[in-house]
Amino acid sequence: MKGVEARRLFAAKPNGSAQSPAPYGGYSKGCLAGGVQLPETGPTWQAMRLSRNRNWAYPETVSYIRDLSTFAARQPGWKGLYVGDISQPRGGPMMTGHRSHQLGLDMDIWMLPPDRLDLSVAERESISSVSMRRAGGAFVNDKWTRQHHEILKAAASDPRVARIFVFPGAKVQMCNDEKGDRAWLRKIRPWWGHHYHFHVRLKCPSDAAGCVDQAAPPAGDGCAEAEDWVQNILNPPPPDPDAPKPKPRQELQMADLPRQCVNVLQSQ
Ligand SMILES: [Zn+2]
Repeated sequence: MKGVEARRLFAAKPNGSAQSPAPYGGYSKGCLAGGVQLPETGPTWQAMRLSRNRNWAYPETVSYIRDLSTFAARQPGWKGLYVGDISQPRGGPMMTGHRSHQLGLDMDIWMLPPDRLDLSVAERESISSVSMRRAGGAFVNDKWTRQHHEILKAAASDPRVARIFVFPGAKVQMCNDEKGDRAWLRKIRPWWGHHYHFHVRLKCPSDAAGCVDQAAPPAGDGCAEAEDWVQNILNPPPPDPDAPKPKPRQELQMADLPRQCVNVLQSQ
């Protein structure tokens, strides 16, 4: 397997490995043993874009989606959740898109409120989510609702969650609107993109020795930092002439991944 990009090997696997479930490595440099498939339709969710075959997950991720979508289904106007990419059957790097989502612990949740949970396979390919942003992500637009706030709050308040990525304007909006407990805001991290969906990252399971957690978010609610980000969107600072040139994207090789990922690939 020397010299072959790991993403080509992982993308070629159509199903999970016949192993006990375990994430190995980090969110952007790892793989998933014993991945299970999020059922394409559940009582309160539908998995979208089935052709991508990225509805594979560590089992706890499936439980989490079950729980969060049950909460979402109690919100006015929401039948549950539309779930975007989780991971490939054996996790690992992908041919397109995400850098992370390699462990079966990252998931994208659409911002579009589901009004039906009987979408056909074809509809799940063609329907698009809806953007929540205005002014380049500095603000939310008129599609944003209190229900988005409540669902993100429930998502972040779950102790299984490490962090959630959403565009800066949404974080600031939630900072301004939250009048009660603010502890959950710490886990809401502003990031580029993430205005058609938010991204939930679960912590490494406590019994997963080979899983590498990310450092916890900085202390505090992070609202001042999000406001700074918004100000930089509205008034971009002049480019730094000494800024280093962005490095070309280096594709991961198998040797870059934990050694267990070779077994994950070779397993039945
Ligand atoms: Zn994501």
